[in-house]
Amino acid sequence: MTSEFIRQSQHRRICRLAVMTLAATALAQAAILHPAAAQSGEVNVYSYREAKLLQPLLDAFTQETGIKVNTISAAAGLEQRIAKEGDKSPADLLLTVDVGRIRDAIAAGIAQPIESDILKKTVPPQYQGADNLWYAVSARARVFYVSKDRVKQDAFTYEELADPKWKGKICIRSGQHMYNNALFAAYIAHYGEAQTETWLKGLKANLAQKPSGGDRETARDIAAGKCDLGVANTYYWALMNNSDPERKPWADATRVVLPTFKNGGTHVNVSAVVLAKHAPNKANAVKFMEWLVGEKAQRIYADINNEYPVRPGVEPNTTIAGYGTLKPDTIPLAKIADHAKAASTLVDKVGFDN
Ligand code: FE
Repeated sequence: MTSEFIRQSQHRRICRLAVMTLAATALAQAAILHPAAAQSGEVNVYSYREAKLLQPLLDAFTQETGIKVNTISAAAGLEQRIAKEGDKSPADLLLTVDVGRIRDAIAAGIAQPIESDILKKTVPPQYQGADNLWYAVSARARVFYVSKDRVKQDAFTYEELADPKWKGKICIRSGQHMYNNALFAAYIAHYGEAQTETWLKGLKANLAQKPSGGDRETARDIAAGKCDLGVANTYYWALMNNSDPERKPWADATRVVLPTFKNGGTHVNVSAVVLAKHAPNKANAVKFMEWLVGEKAQRIYADINNEYPVRPGVEPNTTIAGYGTLKPDTIPLAKIADHAKAASTLVDKVGFDN
């Protein structure tokens, strides 16, 4: 009886913790994360990821470990914020999307090496940063959505985006958006700047309209017949198809194909973790990072976020798997990030967004 009582009261405490975590998350998002929150039994996460996508992971981690996760979410400026907070920063880790952002965070000097055999062994080498400064925890590919009715072709390359056969038929968001920036930087990594400039001019000449909207709007415009092919991330189509009845018709009108570089594979980008230089709860932060590449978290990334797990042996969900077998490009992301600035300069030079 007594042990049952203890178990129940422990369970209640865990439930209470989960509720408190939710409340703390809301508070942190609304205001600031006070340094007093930096004590044992907690971990403070600064996140570029949407809170909605992150919450199932945080809840599961807290439930399993009893460690409370406080979060601050923002769309920009988190590395500057951590840098400004200096050695008083409550930040333990930065959860970020896109290799360009990871590079910015490292360049801001806010990271410290993550010493973890689990991360080193679990995360494939091309998804690890130099000097253990970051590890990817999930992946997505930048692919094509094509009209189901009007496009019958099966195999696609990134190079053909500049082929005149697509004249007036391509839709894409801003060339300066980080997703396109990384793709264009990958193109530079393959072919150099001069060839990439020619390719970008060809792609621009093929656009049906001025770059606009987001990846979902690209599907919308294909559904509306404004274009036949769009460049977009893998998870948006799955979201529209599986859990967004309003936008389901946009998914219905399109299919997802996995293009490759002629001399390589499909362009993959990641979400990743960075350990803050002055992390006050370093042990908990490493524990959380290791947990994120564990079976349970990787299943959540696959099933709820519609991303590719980075942990070998954990399969993507059936919608994502339905796109076909992903053959990721083998150029390391860290190398692609080196060309991010050049890609951005070229986008301006060719007037891509004009
Ligand atoms: Fe996105």
